[in-house]
Amino acid sequence: MSSEVYFMNLRTKQGHNLLDKLERLIGKAGILDGIEEKDLVALKMHFGERGNLAYVQPQFIRRVVEGVKGKGGRPFLTDANTLYVGSRANAVDHLETAIENGFAYAVVGAPLVIADGLNGKDYVAVPVNLKHFKEVKIGSAAVHADALIAVTHFKGHEATGFGGTLKNLGMGLGNRSGKQQMHSDVLPEITEDSCRACGKCAKWCPAGAITVSEKAKIDSGLCIGCGECTVTCPYKAIAINWKSQPDVFQEKIVEYTAGVLKGKEGKTGFITFVTNVSPLCDCCSWNDEPIISDIGILASKDPIAIDQAAVDLVNKAHGNPHSELGERHGENDKFRTLFPQVDWGIQLAYGEEVGLGTRKYKLIEVN
Ligand code: SF4
Ligand code: SF4
Repeated sequence: MSSEVYFMNLRTKQGHNLLDKLERLIGKAGILDGIEEKDLVALKMHFGERGNLAYVQPQFIRRVVEGVKGKGGRPFLTDANTLYVGSRANAVDHLETAIENGFAYAVVGAPLVIADGLNGKDYVAVPVNLKHFKEVKIGSAAVHADALIAVTHFKGHEATGFGGTLKNLGMGLGNRSGKQQMHSDVLPEITEDSCRACGKCAKWCPAGAITVSEKAKIDSGLCIGCGECTVTCPYKAIAINWKSQPDVFQEKIVEYTAGVLKGKEGKTGFITFVTNVSPLCDCCSWNDEPIISDIGILASKDPIAIDQAAVDLVNKAHGNPHSELGERHGENDKFRTLFPQVDWGIQLAYGEEVGLGTRKYKLIEVN
């Protein structure tokens, strides 16, 4: 069995602009068909870090918003806060960055809701019972939505090879402590010099693993690695350990994606922009020269098939010698060339194994 992935290139002519073409693509792919009257529909976005310009333009998002409204749905744009310190680590900074990047209501026609709340603590533990996690921590607005459409900008990523739909959903909608769980195989540690013994971490620790006298201490025998303390400490005295093996990291993202999609069967859709394919993630506060020329936009009901199709399209395209690829622009696998330590296929193979979709696809062009 293969899945259908619909594709539009970026050619246009008078009277047929890209926004109209996107609308046709979405219609042919049928990704809004599961939306019912009054459904709250989450449009999972990446609003772009401040200073990054590679994210999907808000004018395209407005057309998706209009499509959802046309089905009677109530769309909202959403993403969860970041773990790293940047311009989207809490809802206030995140919303300001999104609006600065053009995602104002006046432009997109829908409200913005930060999925895991003001400081990343607003999540639902979704049971998945998979290899790494029994349950995953997903931003509550995404869980409580009736339907979900992921709008993804496809690009490179140093830890997953490429960042596609799986990364947009799994990493993107994990709350801050969930992101810590995905990023780290190692329990957090207290940096004693920074600790002011305020006791906040102990108050939030669900395992009673922290005691505070002169300094906070974590009992590694009790700690369950949930990551709550790392996002709670106001003095950054609890170190986030970013170390995670690329294969384990990818599998964890897939398990989080399974949690995001759980309970929304028949009410999800995926759109991927294979444009401005920057070598690194939109979480960077810059975007480098694209590694290929713009290819087009994909739409599918299958999150694995759409990622496989996107990576295949990128790898078939001519590499840009003026990009980070440089003299290696002729290599077939551009993401392995950029990140030789990462086998990006792991996320797709594991996603297939846990039943999220198939790597086999039929590419259907829409004009
Ligand atoms: S929250 Fe931070 S500063 Fe306060 S006791 Fe815990 S580690 Fe120390
Ligand atoms: S990671 Fe979780 S369980 Fe471990 S000390 Fe921090 S809050 Fe407690």
